[in-house]
Amino acid sequence: MKESIATPGKTKEILQKYNLKLAKGLGQNFLVNRNIINKIITAAKLKEDDLVIEIGPGIGALTQAILNRLTSGRLFAIEKDKRLIEVLADQFSNNRLELINQDVLKIEWRDFLRRWDLKEGEIKVLANLPYYITTPIIMSLLESGVKFSRLVFMVQKEVAERMVALPGGKDYGALSIAVQYYSKAEIIHTVSPAVFIPQPEVYSTVIALEPYPEPPVKVLKKDFFFKIVRAIFQQRRKNIKNALSKAANINLKKERVLESLAELDIDQRIRGEKLTLKQIAELSNLLWKKSGERNEIY
Ligand code: SAM
Repeated sequence: MKESIATPGKTKEILQKYNLKLAKGLGQNFLVNRNIINKIITAAKLKEDDLVIEIGPGIGALTQAILNRLTSGRLFAIEKDKRLIEVLADQFSNNRLELINQDVLKIEWRDFLRRWDLKEGEIKVLANLPYYITTPIIMSLLESGVKFSRLVFMVQKEVAERMVALPGGKDYGALSIAVQYYSKAEIIHTVSPAVFIPQPEVYSTVIALEPYPEPPVKVLKKDFFFKIVRAIFQQRRKNIKNALSKAANINLKKERVLESLAELDIDQRIRGEKLTLKQIAELSNLLWKKSGERNEIY
């Protein structure tokens, strides 16, 4: 392996060497703090034979740290900006690293695994995510149906807070439900803008997700459950009765909503944002039995 120059202290030097003007629209804020990179690596619980996907390697600060840990594993680094792929190809000559010039949002994860002959359950995903598409990237991974073994991301602080939020507060919403349905989320560390070049305007947080082998609540029909979740949180100020019976994305009859709330002993005047994941799952299951299975809603 070539001696890489992708170390946090060398970022400015690399940008100058390759005459790189950063693309703000691609969320290019590069990590320049070794401690924070180490925190991401530690949170990922990397083993020497791990299979790792890195989203948005940039100029390779995190890439280098991951490769340092892998003696027999492999790293697949997916970067949209072709200029950065060229920089990375020039910096790294490591047969454990596969550079992939692709838009991560266009990846279908099952196809990706098949293409690279990767087995489910053994893959970790690490990223200092581009903030303009944090939620779609996380959702595409969680909803792919692929069992990843661990996901560790640097995200905007507020997004991390929404991911771990519990009922009642302003941060609790569709993202909290989705993340907590699929995984156990743990906030690792919050950092100031100073750990990046250029500095973003926001604080950032490292968060680790450990996908559950099975979701913690039983859901009869997943797409229906998530429609209910959207209906509840798109109209957060409405009470649960109105949010559900007037939801544009599902055609629920008001009487079915009222019956279900009564059977589950949920006050029809409370706002949906007060309901726990378990309550929302039970409500969606009952509504599905009363409406969906009777073909009342589609
Ligand atoms: N990992 C590097 C680091 O920590 O210094 C760079 C992180 S930077 C916050 C986000 C990276 O994601 C940039 O390199 C950017 O070009 C890349 N990126 C942005 N949108 C992308 C997309 N749709 N698909 C793949 N990579 C993308």
